[in-house]
Amino acid sequence: LEDILITGGQKDADNLFTFSRNCYALVIGILGTGDFSRSLARRLVACGCRVVVGSRTPSRFVALFPEEAEVTHMEAANQADLVFVAVYPEHYSTLVHLKPALAGKALVDVSNGLQIKQEGPSNAQQLADLFPESSVVKGFNTTSAWTLQAGPRDGSRQVLLCSDDQMAKSSVMQLCRRMGFIPVDMGLLSSSLEIENLPLYLFPSWRTPIICTLALFIFFYLYNSVHEVLHPYITGGKNKLYKLPIEIVNVTFPSVALVMLALVYLPGVIAAFLQLWRGTKYTRFPDWLDHWLTRRKQFGLCSFLCAALHAVYSLCLPMRKSARFQLLNKAFEQVKAGNADSWVEADVWRMELYLSVGIMALGLLSLLAVTSLPSVANTVNWREFTFIQSTLGYCALFMGTLHTLIFGWDRAFLAAQYHFGLPPTFLLVLILPLTVLLSRLALFLPCVNHRLRQIRRGWEKSRHIRFTLSSEDCFNGLENVSNV
Ligand code: NAP
Repeated sequence: LEDILITGGQKDADNLFTFSRNCYALVIGILGTGDFSRSLARRLVACGCRVVVGSRTPSRFVALFPEEAEVTHMEAANQADLVFVAVYPEHYSTLVHLKPALAGKALVDVSNGLQIKQEGPSNAQQLADLFPESSVVKGFNTTSAWTLQAGPRDGSRQVLLCSDDQMAKSSVMQLCRRMGFIPVDMGLLSSSLEIENLPLYLFPSWRTPIICTLALFIFFYLYNSVHEVLHPYITGGKNKLYKLPIEIVNVTFPSVALVMLALVYLPGVIAAFLQLWRGTKYTRFPDWLDHWLTRRKQFGLCSFLCAALHAVYSLCLPMRKSARFQLLNKAFEQVKAGNADSWVEADVWRMELYLSVGIMALGLLSLLAVTSLPSVANTVNWREFTFIQSTLGYCALFMGTLHTLIFGWDRAFLAAQYHFGLPPTFLLVLILPLTVLLSRLALFLPCVNHRLRQIRRGWEKSRHIRFTLSSEDCFNGLENVSNV
């Protein structure tokens, strides 16, 4: 309102006051009788607005609308104070005969694009060109017919709006609030292209993490198959193909989970070293690092998914027939050998520790995943969020690494583990997490930590004034370096 008083003048402000006061008595027009129109009409009627729906064949669709809505011919749009254009953009030209009826009115363009467009004109701009005497507002395209019908509690509450006419935009924002949505002002109509593209994106922030997860999964699956299936077949003619559906998958998931978790913290470590090396935080990171830093949450969630699947697969291991047969065979061999006690103290401890640490790692990962949800993240302050995502995140990485180290135990030193000269999987998996953990430890060294904190508070190496003291003050000819 303040904006209108400054930019649009007193007349616009008065109009807006009148609009707010009369919102319930408003006549809202909707052109088109499709899914969107029906849901919108229902919502508007529920909010107490008078609704007039314009159709080419009103008698055909009248039964689909609430009784309170008037379904009539398109020309009835002239009764409305504000008109929603709920027809596809390719049919806008069929509405040009309504120009006189729509002149001076706010037209809400709810259309979505068919494909992501980098350059305009957007549908809303095309509508504005067709109806130069009306004020086009872009909005509601990110709100589905379902959300409109079910009410804002069942879907996204935000409605992104933009328009070149501040007054028309404010009217639609007002109506939006009445309907229980939260209007978000996206500025001028030139933003409409971006708003139209929004519903067309397919997980843009998930692409890299998902590709990484799949690539790692395929790599480790093949690597484990070579170790566990191909090697016994080639060296001993043994058929171990039965391991492919569960056992190999079960050793692949934890490998992917741990590497993905290390990839969550690796960019932060690289960024810290880069800042130390450059001696400033005011130089942009390379694009790939920026991109990686903004995808850490998705990397973490992929890691959590793999860890959770590993837990489920592990619980299923004893249920398999192969596991039961192997157990019976071992028991039989033990009986035949007259061995009454197969207890091996070291193995018992190893398994107890291995499971306990693994469960703790999964617990911490679950906590990280839950707190990354916006609804939960909004309930904690920045310090709490950082504590969970950074401190507890590193604890999860440490636990995961320990889990793998205990799994390895002394196996890394057994020649039999190096099939075809390839190191066992757990050794490969440990490279990245150990690098991240050791680098993090290096950043904790007091001298390094102190310099990094200085840099993050704005200290810069280039602003570091170097001056040489006069020969009397100079100690052994060394430079005195001080920071300003
Ligand atoms: P729809 O079910 O196909 O309805 C489109 C309506 O346009 C028809 O019912 C028709 O009504 C009218 N129309 C007017 N002139 C037309 C012509 N020359 N040819 C064909 N139809 C004409 O589509 P919708 O799902 O309601 O979508 C309408 C608009 O809302 C689209 O721009 C869409 O992008 C947008 N939108 C839809 C949703 C959603 O969830 N459905 C969500 C966000 C945005 P009459 O036959 O009565 O004239």
